[in-house]
Amino acid sequence: MRRKLVAGNWKMHGSRASSAELLAGITAARPYDCDVVVCVPFPYLSEAAVALAGSDVRWGAQDCSAFEQGAYTGEVSVLMLADFGCRYVIVGHSERRQYHAESDQLVADKAKVALARGVTPIVCVGETLAQREAGETEAVVKRQLSAVIHTLGHCASEMVVAYEPVWAIGTGRTATPEQAQAVHALLRAQLRAATPQADHMRLLYGGSVKADNAAALFAQPDIDGGLIGGASLKASDFVAICRAAR
Ligand code: PEP
Repeated sequence: MRRKLVAGNWKMHGSRASSAELLAGITAARPYDCDVVVCVPFPYLSEAAVALAGSDVRWGAQDCSAFEQGAYTGEVSVLMLADFGCRYVIVGHSERRQYHAESDQLVADKAKVALARGVTPIVCVGETLAQREAGETEAVVKRQLSAVIHTLGHCASEMVVAYEPVWAIGTGRTATPEQAQAVHALLRAQLRAATPQADHMRLLYGGSVKADNAAALFAQPDIDGGLIGGASLKASDFVAICRAAR
């Protein structure tokens, strides 16, 4: 039985005050029947670490460099994330792939450097609307995951995978539970071919998950929780989604 995981992706939202309020709302609603993570903007990591210390709510980041240190202006190293107690880092979010031209191999390299420092990568994969309509969903997500599987080798079982159809992110248009499950089943099969631990790995769904659709998505056999964007910015909404994960 896989314990579900719900991760909030705050993206580039909030302020010190609103972050503190959000974290207070999330911790006040404990305990949860799932693992809960918040991926906060870099400047708020130290305050998240203080606010969440002693609780079982974990904190993480939304990206990291593929390098551990050096002359990479503006980048943040996974060593720095580990220094702040981060347990998770999102890599390969479609917004990074789209706006920062991140390749499959760069995403895989980021996942590798994260795992090497004990930070669990949440590796995002997903197709655009045009790719779905062209019948390319399977090929796209398999190609994206394959790069990570090959780069991580025997450590592949330690990542978390998030299937996030690009057409569902921030659009209010959610994949149906059946559409999401179909892709999760493909990803699980691909992982089974790569590692004997595939059935213990957590595969998250992301894309306009809300309190009113979370339970149906999380009830699917290969959906082990969610990566939540917009609805993670309001404590009551995020808490309701976490409650749906059991
Ligand atoms: C995301 O950005 O990872 C995401 C899933 O966003 P939203 O929930 O807002 O669609």
